[in-house]
This record gives sequence, C-alpha cells and structure tokens, in this order.
Amino acid sequence: MAVPVSQMWTVASYVLRQKLAGRERYPLVLMLEPLFRCNLACAGCGKIQYPAHILKKDLSPEQCFKAVDECGAPMVSIPGGEPLMHPQIAEIVEGLVARKKYIYLCTNALLLKEKIHLFKPSKYLTFSVHMDGQKEHHDFSVCREGGYEIAVEGIKAALARGFRVTTNTTLFDGADPNSVRAFFDEMMEVGVESMMLSPGYSYDKAPDQQHFLGRARTRRLFRAIFSNRKKSWRFNQSPLFVDFLMGKRHYSCTPWGMPTFNIFGWQKPCYLLQDGYADTYKELMETTVWNDYGTESGNPQCANCMVHCGYEPSAVNDTFSSIRGFMDTVRATLFSEYKDLGALELLNEQTHPVHSYNPLVQIKSDATQMEETNA
Ligand code: SF4
Ligand code: SF4
Repeated sequence: MAVPVSQMWTVASYVLRQKLAGRERYPLVLMLEPLFRCNLACAGCGKIQYPAHILKKDLSPEQCFKAVDECGAPMVSIPGGEPLMHPQIAEIVEGLVARKKYIYLCTNALLLKEKIHLFKPSKYLTFSVHMDGQKEHHDFSVCREGGYEIAVEGIKAALARGFRVTTNTTLFDGADPNSVRAFFDEMMEVGVESMMLSPGYSYDKAPDQQHFLGRARTRRLFRAIFSNRKKSWRFNQSPLFVDFLMGKRHYSCTPWGMPTFNIFGWQKPCYLLQDGYADTYKELMETTVWNDYGTESGNPQCANCMVHCGYEPSAVNDTFSSIRGFMDTVRATLFSEYKDLGALELLNEQTHPVHSYNPLVQIKSDATQMEETNA
C-alpha cells in the first residue's frame, strides 16, 4: 500500500473535521524549513542561493514546535536545504513524532547512512529521498557525479533499519518519459514505499532558468509517464493531483494548503514565492491577499505553476468536497492503469534530455563552499 491506513485515516478525518467546521482555508501539510544550507548545489534549486550569513542560520527545535502547534496541520514536510545538516534534527523529529505528526523528512540522502542511527523507526517518520530519475539524469540534475549511488545506499540503509522511505522527483524540460518509467521500476526494486513526482517551478533564484516546464509541456510529459501504468508502481500523491498533471482535470491553486515556515517567519503566500513574511500563522492567513495568486489571478509568477504544494491540496479538497470528488478518487485508485494508446505513441517520440547535450557541471554554492572550508 502506498500510504498506511492509519495515515490515510488521520488525514481524511482531519479534512472532514475542517469541512464540518465550515473552514474554507485550512492547512494540510506544514512545510517546515529548519535551514537553507545544503551539501549539494542543484541547478534548479531556489533555496541555496542565500548569502553565507543566512545559510549559517538554523531554526531551533522550540521554534519548529511552536510553528507546528500554531498551524495544526496533520502532516509536516521538512525540506531545506538539507535537514540532515541541522545539528538538532533528531530532536526536532522526536518532538514532532511525540505530537503524532506524519513527517516527511526530505533529504538528498548523502548523509542518510551516516546519520540514520540518530532516528528511531516510527509510522510517523518517513525519509523522502530526493531522486531526480535514473543515474545519469539524477547526477546531472543534482550536479554531482555518483550522487545516485550514494542516495540508493542511504535508502537501503534506512529500509534495512525498518524506516519508511519514499522518493520525491522533480522533472524539468527534456525529461525522457521512458527513463522516468524505468526509474519507477528501479525504485520499486530497491523497496521504497512509494514515489512522488512534481514538475519543477521556475524559481527566479535558480541558476538554470532555461529548463523549466510550461503547462502544456507538463501535461504532455505526465500523460506519457503516468498512462499505461504498471501495477507494481506505488505513488504517494493524490490520484486526482496526478490526473491534474496529466491534463485530465483542472484545479485552481490552494496556496494556504501547504504553508511554509522558515528562519524568516511564515512565508507569503506559498513555498515557492516570497512576497513577504508574517510573524504568526494567524497573521499569514489574515493578511495574505490570496486572490493575487494562482493561475487565474494573472500573476505572472504563477503562470506556469503546476507544483504539488499549490495543487495537491486542491485535489485533496476536491476528494472531500462532494460525492463526485470522492467517487472519482475511489475510481482513480481502483482503476489506475490509465490505458491510453496515444500516450504509448508519445513514448516513441525522441527526447533531448538536458544531460545529452550539456556537460555535467558541479556548481558550488556558498553552502558547499562553507562545508569544504569547515572540513
Ligand atoms: S538537494 Fe538540491 S534541490 Fe534540495 S536543497 Fe539541496 S541543492 Fe537544493
Ligand atoms: S500557483 Fe504556484 S507559485 Fe502561485 S501561489 Fe500557487 S503554488 Fe505558489
């Protein structure tokens, strides 16, 4: 099963409680960024370009717990930066497990094998490993030769100790759908619980601005990838969100569904944009002009966005908003093969993965430079 029943039940009962209480805007997942520094410097990253004095800062465990308690979301995703570089990450995770939050600790897994002994297996804790595809594609995407093997070793070490492990994959223009499908086979063979995919968002801070996907190309790529699915593949994302990526349904953005807290405070309006910060979760909800965001708003920053932090909460909300939404979800879960002859033809089209005509460049960020200086 892609997600344990206890987690499904926790999330479903939470959303139903919000609906019964008549809450129009509620958080589903807190995006908790305890630091921005990282031991990689991926070309599509929008987080590691801060100056060194910002990259050195960490949220304290107390700041993390306060944010989690204020927000009340049943799930907490811990991206970064690289959370395993936070000196108190084990304490933060322990505090969240004690609060019965379902945690997705997002890691590039370079330090996973070395630090796994700091954690205790729990149904509340999942390591969500950043894997951007098969070896060649992953290494190119994270600008690090050998990154794939190290990450797979980390995954195996965590699985061997009884941890829940999933993968998260960001796709950019030129991604080869056949290779992505082969990557699904590889990850299932390694034994991960399930996989999550999202198109990359064109952060204006990211060094590589050329290879982000537009909406039409996103739908075409995800139709090729997700149609004619193998039964063995397991995904940990809403089936209606996958439909959205494939162009089978339309959603408006729900930026408040995954609020972000980091060293600057509560980020307005979402994980991707930085239009100011609020001191409290309440202030974030009350002072953000939500209508200024989403594709329909005409905001150019949102024009090409189909990213999970904005649209997965829309899909989950749809599931619980009507009988039709619920039945669509049941149908998409039970009949997930999505036979599509046209999509099979898309798989025969020639692709030009970025790494096929570009050399692998290992980019140095302030974070990796800091690491080397401190070594
Ligand atoms: S692993 Fe890559 S994308 Fe993730 S924080 Fe580090 S540099 Fe950014
Ligand atoms: S459309 Fe994307 S960038 Fe815009 S608010 Fe929603 S999630 Fe953020």
